Amino acid sequence: MEEKRNESLNFIEEIIEEDLKTGKWSKIYTRFPPEPNGYLHIGHAKSICLNFGIKEKYKGKCNLRFDDTNPSKEDVEYVNSIMEDVRWLGFEWDRLCYASDYFDQLYEWAVMLIKEGKAYVDKQSPEEISRQRTTPTELGIESPYRYTSPEENLKLFEEMRMGLHPEGSMVLRAKIDMNSPNMHMRDPIMYRIIKKPHDRTGDKWCIYPMYDYAHGQSDYIEGITHSICTLEFEVHRPLYDWFLDQIDKTGKRPRQIEFARLNVSYTVMSKRKLLELVTNKIVSGWDDPRMPTISGLRRRGYTPESIRNFAERIGVAKRDNLIDVGLLEYFIREDLNKKANRVMAVLNPLKVVITNYPEGQTEYLEAINNPEDPSAGTRKVSFSREIYIEKDDFMENPPKKYFRLQPGGEVRLRWAYFIKCEEVIKDEKGEIVELRCTYDPLSKGGQSPDGRKVKGTIHWVNANDCIESELRLYDRLFTKENLDDLAEDENYTDYLNPESLVIVNAKLEKTLVSAKPGNTFQFERKGYFCVDKDSTTEKLVFNRTVTLKDSWAKIISNETE
Ligand code: ATP
Ligand code: MG
Repeated sequence: MEEKRNESLNFIEEIIEEDLKTGKWSKIYTRFPPEPNGYLHIGHAKSICLNFGIKEKYKGKCNLRFDDTNPSKEDVEYVNSIMEDVRWLGFEWDRLCYASDYFDQLYEWAVMLIKEGKAYVDKQSPEEISRQRTTPTELGIESPYRYTSPEENLKLFEEMRMGLHPEGSMVLRAKIDMNSPNMHMRDPIMYRIIKKPHDRTGDKWCIYPMYDYAHGQSDYIEGITHSICTLEFEVHRPLYDWFLDQIDKTGKRPRQIEFARLNVSYTVMSKRKLLELVTNKIVSGWDDPRMPTISGLRRRGYTPESIRNFAERIGVAKRDNLIDVGLLEYFIREDLNKKANRVMAVLNPLKVVITNYPEGQTEYLEAINNPEDPSAGTRKVSFSREIYIEKDDFMENPPKKYFRLQPGGEVRLRWAYFIKCEEVIKDEKGEIVELRCTYDPLSKGGQSPDGRKVKGTIHWVNANDCIESELRLYDRLFTKENLDDLAEDENYTDYLNPESLVIVNAKLEKTLVSAKPGNTFQFERKGYFCVDKDSTTEKLVFNRTVTLKDSWAKIISNETE
């Protein structure tokens, strides 16, 4: 029984359960530690679901901590968007923390290290410092400043803090091991001078701690038990532990655990690249619906549940891999299939006049909102003598097995009547501009009056009261599946998809008149769409969240059978 349970644990949960069993920890404490230098993306969502998921599963705690140690890249706009995104995903932090809250403590510890002869001020240029580190297979070269006395170092570090030295003129380094095969241990930099005011500490500091020095100590201060990060930090772990060795003598300290970053096909996932797309106006902003950001996905019509289910499904891996974007699309279809009301929208309209329907008459036909959810109820769609159907739901010379409208043929209008095409009207160029049809009054609601079969059902809108709208049809932002796999002379922007956004006008059924930004619908046979914030009282704007076709549905249903 016990064994069976363990099978479903991922490797992080195994570590946690072991720590609970041995009594190393009685309460689990995690954190999500973004740097506020950009908007969160779907990779961050994975990390959020993981850290807050552990909190929920083990009834522990989880902090949101801003790793705000570099004022030259950070901004409150990012802080606010990050809080919004975490909450939108459905999580609440136990404490809201900032690494900058610990600047005094970090400084004190740095002074302690200097006094103990374990840190020194280096006046060499960054280039020189990195040159002296050489390569992992060679011995490093010690800095001429490595053996400066603690007194002298204390004085210099104090001067750094007071702003007496220009940016780039000196750094504080930990004195560890210039011959370590791990380059991160070759006297890593702890502090550098940045003469920029900080959003939270103002002008108080002009020296700022490096990630490696700030991160583990922040975890320690907050009482974090399991510090989960992505694989690129695996090589930093000895340094994470070394810094903690210097301040902790109890052994009650966080453990760093690494898992594989989430990469999704046909998109990029680094904040640096996403920022480039924004600043170069390749997209309309961080929340452009083509962006893999949480705010972009939200605007696109993704739900928190779909993202959480996706994160759950991909699990945690120890090796980097590329996840098919189709899997993410599967989860939003699955969620919207249950939640989105069905409506009718015609993207490429062809006028149909129903010649035997009384002129001036309007009737209201009952339509089911969501066959997957009886509680969604019904609505009344208006019908009259003139309607629009999709251009490609009619063919003048159709192939066999074409069940939509054709000369002399009959189709069912969704929720309405059977109609039969009697006449095709063309303009002088020979293009079809209108169809003349007759309807069968006895087929109301789409029911066959006499058992005769009509195979095709098509959607339509009432030409007399339909609403004009703009639809934004999105495709992948890039044409290449794996953008980490580029030749040396290539750039990820070489693979931008020129057709990632196509704008069309569409005619919508009248019931959509009260739709509000964020509302999601299934346009029957066309896909899932949600109302965009760019909508005005004159014109509704919709984003296509995802089309209806799905290649993952089969794979997943085979699995769960
Ligand atoms: P990027 O490299 O995309 O700019 P980052 O790692 O610099 O992101 P941080 O703000 O430092 O961004 O990340 C906050 C947390 O989110 C970290 O714990 C980081 O490991 C995690 N994270 C970032 N990107 C991913 C990803 N693609 N998959 C999973 N977790 C991620
Ligand atoms: Mg980072």
